[in-house]
Amino acid sequence: MDNAIARVKDFLEAHRTTAEQFLSEFLAIPSVSADPQHRPDMKRAAEWVAQFFSQMGLAAELIQSPTGHPVVYAETPHCEGMPTVLIYGHYDVQPAEDPTLWQTPPFEPTIRGGAIYARGASDDKGQVLTHLLSVGAWYQVTKSWPLNFKFVIEGEEEVGSSVLEKFLDEQADRLACDCIVISDGNQFGPDQPAITYGLRGIAYFELRVKGPHRDLHSGSFGGTVTNPATALTRMLGQFMTQDGRVAIPGFYDDVLPLSNEERRRLRELPFDEPAFWASLGVETAWGEPGYTVLERRWARPTFEVCGLWGGYQGDGAKTVIPANAGAKISFRLVPHQDPDRIREALLSYLAQICPPGVQYEVIDLHASPAVLTSLDSPYIKAAENAVKMAFSRSPVFTREGGSIPIVSRFQQRLGADVLLLGWGQDDDNTHAPNEKFSLADFHRGTLASAYLWEFIRQIGKATDS
Ligand SMILES: [Zn+2]
Repeated sequence: MDNAIARVKDFLEAHRTTAEQFLSEFLAIPSVSADPQHRPDMKRAAEWVAQFFSQMGLAAELIQSPTGHPVVYAETPHCEGMPTVLIYGHYDVQPAEDPTLWQTPPFEPTIRGGAIYARGASDDKGQVLTHLLSVGAWYQVTKSWPLNFKFVIEGEEEVGSSVLEKFLDEQADRLACDCIVISDGNQFGPDQPAITYGLRGIAYFELRVKGPHRDLHSGSFGGTVTNPATALTRMLGQFMTQDGRVAIPGFYDDVLPLSNEERRRLRELPFDEPAFWASLGVETAWGEPGYTVLERRWARPTFEVCGLWGGYQGDGAKTVIPANAGAKISFRLVPHQDPDRIREALLSYLAQICPPGVQYEVIDLHASPAVLTSLDSPYIKAAENAVKMAFSRSPVFTREGGSIPIVSRFQQRLGADVLLLGWGQDDDNTHAPNEKFSLADFHRGTLASAYLWEFIRQIGKATDS
């Protein structure tokens, strides 16, 4: 079986057209999870995925709920002693919205300029299919499964993952695995694949401040009561130091610092700071001292005011002391910071800084911890080698400033290493008109996936002996 991967590669090479046909079929189903009118299409897409598994020789199960869209679940027969890989992806897509903004209809997949255009091409049908095709090819060629696989393909990634959350809560032991593979993101740039090994977490709150029980004339009452809007901004002004650190006591206590090795790798990434500022229309950098822009974006925690209101918002002047004011505030968290502890630190800080004469209320909106896979993980090494083989180029290692709650739920529940292998590009127009996915990336992604199983197999053998 030693040259199995070479034969798998030949097989994938020879079946490119079939792979593209599968992709077109999948993309032609308008599986828009947010739109109740597309419920029958959601069912059709789930069944298409289930049918794909049965062609691979696997029985798929639809995990249903009365209101949500099914999770398609399949697994290969368990083979003792082999690593288990969980592959996650989603078959639902964003609404296509205004069809006149599309050059070709969103659910009539069209190939132009080496890319396939359709809603869901990059996010996530094209990407998830790379893994199904590679596992299928392995089986076709070797008549055996290279690893233990569990497939979780959900239909609610774009609308909150209710069925999957419940599945994870109730049957996490069924999903036990050594490594989770997700392709639902982008490369670092054209021809520069990336392995994303960390995501920031988030703790998001609404802060409401209440003063007098009605709005007051600012002439008659100004100077006699605490103005809730002023109180709110005074409090918010104390959330950060002048130079850009979060001022809440204890906020940095659990922060996992960047290792020297990570800092070195981040510094080596081709990143043009002036171009970055220009692209945002700002003149100057700002942020936590002592860190580069990429470090601040990906690996340092932050505080942001995301929304702010209170008092008169209309045209002209109205002399008023508002009865209420409020803000939406978020903290981006990094590995080892616990959203619950951050909440406690926030509450005790507010108790300390709230001026007299107003009351406040904190409403929890959402929270999820950061995700990090150690750069020393053997799965990271396997992915690095696999990407190098398929793309003829070493991947760069990146982290992501945003949060993907389902990924942190997977890591919390299953305790496995997460590999985020995005095959897309920043200009794929995901969530926008004219979404596309490069066919070269589709095929290279499939080949990288096939190599990944080979290199993970080798880890399994190394730990056996
Ligand atoms: Zn996606």
